[in-house]
Amino acid sequence: MADTDLLVIGAGVIGLAVAREAARRGIETMILEAGDTIGGETSSRNSEVIHAGIYYTPGSLKARHCIEGRNRLYQYVQERNVPFRRCGKLIVANSEKEDATLHELQRRSIENGLTDADALQYFSAGDINELEPQVRARSALYSPSSGIVDSHALMMALLADAQSDGAILALRTRVDQLEPGEPHVLQGSSSGEHWRLTANNVVVATGLHSAQLMTQDDRLNALAPTIRWVKGSYFALQGKSPFRHLVYPVPTKDGLGIHATLDMAGSTRFGPDTETVNSIAYSVDARRRDTFASSIRRYWPELQAERLVPGYAGIRPKAQPAGAEADFLIQGPQELGVQGLVFLHGIESPGLTASLSLASAVNDSLPVARRSRRAS
Ligand SMILES: Cc1cc2nc3c(=O)[nH]c(=O)nc-3n(C[C@H](O)[C@H](O)[C@H](O)COP(=O)(O)OP(=O)(O)OC[C@H]3O[C@@H](n4cnc5c(N)ncnc54)[C@H](O)[C@@H]3O)c2cc1C
Repeated sequence: MADTDLLVIGAGVIGLAVAREAARRGIETMILEAGDTIGGETSSRNSEVIHAGIYYTPGSLKARHCIEGRNRLYQYVQERNVPFRRCGKLIVANSEKEDATLHELQRRSIENGLTDADALQYFSAGDINELEPQVRARSALYSPSSGIVDSHALMMALLADAQSDGAILALRTRVDQLEPGEPHVLQGSSSGEHWRLTANNVVVATGLHSAQLMTQDDRLNALAPTIRWVKGSYFALQGKSPFRHLVYPVPTKDGLGIHATLDMAGSTRFGPDTETVNSIAYSVDARRRDTFASSIRRYWPELQAERLVPGYAGIRPKAQPAGAEADFLIQGPQELGVQGLVFLHGIESPGLTASLSLASAVNDSLPVARRSRRAS
C-alpha cells in the first residue's frame, strides 16, 4: 500500500490549488515544498494581475484556463475575503503599427469569448484622457474584467482550505528523485535527513524546475521539454500613483511589455522587462532604470526617472523554443503513458489567474479523482 494517495510537489500557487482541489474531493494529499515558506519563487514574484484572457492564441491552454480561471478566481476571492480589485486595464498604442495590434487583440479576445460585459472597448485619445489624464496614447483598448489580487493572501487561503480538508504540508522538503511505478517512489531530503515515500499519484508543480525530476528515468527523460528562463525585473514608483487603472503597452514577443500595475496598498510598480538567463538570481540591476524610463515615457511622458527605484524580479519558465508562441504544457497520464503522474511545465503568465482552472483539469486527469476517500 502506498504512503499516500497524492503527492503534490511544489507549494506555489499551482501546487496549492491542485492540493486544495484534491483535498476537497476527499483525496489523501501531501504537499512537499523545498523552500521554507509557501510561494517563495515565481508565485510571489509577479504582477498580481487577474488577466481577462485577451492575448492568447484561441484554443490554447492559456486561453482556456485564463478565462475559466479568472471567473473562478473572482468568485473564490470574494467568498474567501482575499483582497482583490476589479480595477480594469488599458492597453495603449502610440503608432499606427501598435494601433493595428490593438485591432488584432480585439479580434482575438472575441474569439477567446470576451463578449458582453467582458468585451474590450476601443478608446480614442479623448476617451483615454477622461479615464487616465496622465496617459498619452493615440488609441487604447479598455478591459473591464482585468483586476489585481493579493497573491500571498490567495495562497494562504488555498493552503488553509487544503489543510482543513486534511492535506498535509511539509516545508524544507526537497524531492530529488522520482521513480514512476505502481506506486510511484519519491526520495529526497528534509533538513539534511534522507527520506523515501510512495504515492499512487504525483503532481509535479515545481515551476522553473519542472523538467528536473524527469531526467533520472529513461522513459520520462525522452519526453522532458527544454525550459527556457526569461527574467523580468520591476521598478517601484516612489510617491503617489498617477493611475487608477492598470496601463499596458502592446505586448512583445516574450512578455506583455513594461506595464504599470497597482498593488492592493495603492502603490505603483513598472515591469517586467525580458532577459534570458541561465541561473536564478532575483537582484534588480539599477542600471536598467534609464531603459525602463524611456519605455514608460512612451505612455507617461511626465515620469521623473528619479522616482523609479529597483523593486523585485521574477523568472518566467518557457516550455517552447524562442520565437514560438509560448503555451502551458501539461503532461499527464495520456502524454506520459504513466498512470497517476502529471508534470506542469511552462506555467508562466497567466498562471496565477489560471490556477483554479488548472487545478480542476489536473485532478480530472488522475484516476484517484474518481475515488473519493469520504465516499468510500
Ligand atoms: C515576471 C512575472 C510576472 C507575472 N505576472 C503574472 C500576472 O500578473 N498574472 C498572472 O496570472 N500570472 C503572472 N505570472 C505567472 C505566475 O506568477 C506563475 O504562473 C505562477 O506563479 C506559477 O506558479 P507555480 O506554482 O507553477 O510555480 P512556483 O511559484 O515557482 O512554485 C514552484 C514551487 O516548487 C518548489 N520546488 C521546486 N523544485 C522542488 C523540488 N524538487 N521539491 C520540492 N519543491 C520544489 C519551489 O520551491 C516553489 O515554491 C507572472 C510570472 C512572472 C515570472
